Amino acid sequence: MILEVRKLQVNYGSVRVLHGIDLAVRQGEIVCILGANGAGKSTTLNTLCGLVRPSSGEILYNGKPIHRLPAFRIVEQKITQAPEGRRIFGTLTVQENLDLGAFTAKNRDRLKSSLEWIFELFPRLAERRSQLAGTLSGGEQQMLAIGRALMSNPRLLLLDEPSLGLAPVLARQIFRTIREINASGVTVILVEQNARIALKLADRGYVMELGKIVMEDSASALLENPDVVQAYLGGGKGK
Ligand code: ATP
Repeated sequence: MILEVRKLQVNYGSVRVLHGIDLAVRQGEIVCILGANGAGKSTTLNTLCGLVRPSSGEILYNGKPIHRLPAFRIVEQKITQAPEGRRIFGTLTVQENLDLGAFTAKNRDRLKSSLEWIFELFPRLAERRSQLAGTLSGGEQQMLAIGRALMSNPRLLLLDEPSLGLAPVLARQIFRTIREINASGVTVILVEQNARIALKLADRGYVMELGKIVMEDSASALLENPDVVQAYLGGGKGK
């Protein structure tokens, strides 16, 4: 297992929002986390990358506890969360935003090859490397956010709603790219409102409700599960 989460609890002030979450992710998998607004998906990702502290429970990464490490130490261990597309630095260029993602990298040659790889994954970013990020379209900003996360050369990539606000054609492009990133050896945890597309991409999925995991199965089984279909896949077979 690359990641094991055991009985994770998180409180915001006096309100408990995660009630003992268990997750297990194998090296090389794409695992998706589904759930309604407020179920605790973003809190889970933020706790994995050290932005939120658990009140109890454990997070083991390659068998070692990381839940007490500060966020920058977790990035050094090669766990990176891509921020939402809106969280890029709009007054900096595309290139400058990417450079910022590389703050933990020490080796210049490796940095150059990361950059080349990101421009291969997202040719649009290469075309616009000198453009101010704030002038990019929503889809391009999302690409930049993922590209910036990849500059730290993660082994485990956390993605929170990468298709949020994107037209379907752009969302499909982002998902194709996530598959390519995964094929290069990066394990992915994906939080996504678009349950159908997420389950088609993922190996396995978890369903969260009110701060608890209520279901866990292979993505193909979840796609066929009547409760999942009813609650998250619009009740029909869809497209
Ligand atoms: P969404 O898709 O809407 O982001 P989510 O499943 O990611 O939903 P979280 O954002 O993790 O859910 O929120 C879980 C619960 O914690 C919600 O009830 C939310 O209102 C609450 N919450 C989130 N952030 C904070 C915060 N900083 N302070 C207090 N409560 C918070």
